[in-house]
Amino acid sequence: MILDCAIIGGGPAGLTAGLYTTRGGLENVTMFEKGMPGGQITNSSEIENYPGVTGDISGMDLMMPWPEQCQRFGLKHEMVNVLKVSKSADLFTIHKEDGTTTDAHSVIIGTGSRPRRVGFTGENELLGKGVSTCATCDGFFYKGKEVVVIGGGDTALEEALYLAKICSKVYLVHRRDTFRSAPNTVERVNKTENIEVILNSSPDEVYGDAMGVTGIKIKNKDGEIRDISVPGVFTFVGNDVNNQTLIQEDKSFLCDMNKQGEVIVDISMKTSVAGLYATGDMRIAAPKQVVSAAGDGAVAALQVISYVDELLN
Ligand code: FAD
Ligand code: NAP
Repeated sequence: MILDCAIIGGGPAGLTAGLYTTRGGLENVTMFEKGMPGGQITNSSEIENYPGVTGDISGMDLMMPWPEQCQRFGLKHEMVNVLKVSKSADLFTIHKEDGTTTDAHSVIIGTGSRPRRVGFTGENELLGKGVSTCATCDGFFYKGKEVVVIGGGDTALEEALYLAKICSKVYLVHRRDTFRSAPNTVERVNKTENIEVILNSSPDEVYGDAMGVTGIKIKNKDGEIRDISVPGVFTFVGNDVNNQTLIQEDKSFLCDMNKQGEVIVDISMKTSVAGLYATGDMRIAAPKQVVSAAGDGAVAALQVISYVDELLN
C-alpha cells in the first residue's frame, strides 16, 4: 500500500500535521516516531505560553492528549527510527531502521532538534551520572542539594527556576554578561533568592568519583577558576537540527538547506522538492515554539491534501 502522506516525527508539528491530514480526508496517513509522541517539550517542566492553556502545567501534561486526538481521525503510528527519505519519480520512500521501507505520495517532516553539548572536560563521560540535559527527568535526584545550570537562553533560565523549587541552591553560569532569555524570565531569576548568577564564565571541567559528579570548575573571562562542589550539572546551551533523514547516498540533501542545516521552505512549508514539506524547529526562521510548530503542521497538512488530490485525480 502506498501512503497518501508519511509524517516523520511526532512532536507538536508532526502530530498537528497528523490531525489535519486525517481530519481533512486523507485515509492512509502514518506518523513515524522513534520514541513516545510529544516531542522535546515533554522534557520541559513548565509551559506557560501555549494559547488558552492556563495554570501550572508541564510539557508532558500539554502533549498527552495530542496522539489520542489524531488517532480518533485515523492517524496510524509506527514507532520506528527513520533512517532516510528518498524520492524517485513522484514517489517517496521511507527507509526504516528495522530494514523495511514504506512508499508515500507525500511527506511532512518535523524531526525537530536535539540538545547541544557544551564541550567541557568530563561532560560526555559523566552524562547521565550527574551531567543532565533534562531538569524534569533528573531534578528530583537533587532535592535539597545544590546544582549548577549552564546556559543563558530561555531553556536555561526556565529550568533554573524549576530547579530552584527543588534544590537548595542553583548556580546559573553564563558565558556573557547579558542573557538571551525573555526579559520577564530574567527578572524572575534575579528575584529568586536561591539562584546565584555567575556571568562571564564557562565550565572548564566537571569531575567526580564512581558514584557520579562531585564538582565543577568554572573559569571566568580573566582565567580565574572557581571550584563548586555539586552533585548535579544541567546543560541547556541550545539545540541542533535533526536533518539526518534528508541525507542521500551521495551525501547531498534531498532538498535545499541553509548553512545551519535548516530546511528552506516557503510560507506554505513547501521545500524545493514537490510533495515534501518541512515543519517546526527544523525549518528556516523557526520561532522554535510549540504553537508555531503546530501551526506549521496545520499549514503543511492543508497543502498536502491539495497536492495528493491533484497528483491522483
Ligand atoms: P520536536 O518537538 O523536537 O519533535 C520532533 C520529534 O521527531 C521527536 O519526538 C523525535 O523523537 C522525532 N524524531 C526525530 N528524528 C526522528 C527519526 N529519524 N525517526 C523518527 N522520529 C524522529 N516552546 C514553547 O512554545 N514554550 C515553552 O515553554 C518551551 N519550553 C521549552 C523547554 C525546553 C526544555 C525545550 C528543549 C524546548 C522548549 N520549547 C518551548 C520549544 C519547543 O519544545 C519546540 O519548539 C517544539 O517542540 C518543536 O516541535 P517540533 O515538532 O518541530 O519538534
Ligand atoms: P538558545 O536560545 O540558543 O540559548 C543557548 C544559550 O546557551 C545561549 O545563552 C548561549 O550563549 C549558551 N551557549 C551556547 N553554546 C555554549 C557553550 N558552548 N558554552 C557556554 N554557553 C553556551 O537555546 P535555548 O535556550 O535552548 O532555546 C532554544 C529555542 O527555544 C529558543 O528559540 C528559545 O526562545 C525557545 N524556547 C522558548 C521558551 C519560551 O518561549 N518560554 C522556552 C524554552 C526555549 P550566548 O547567549 O552567548 O550565545
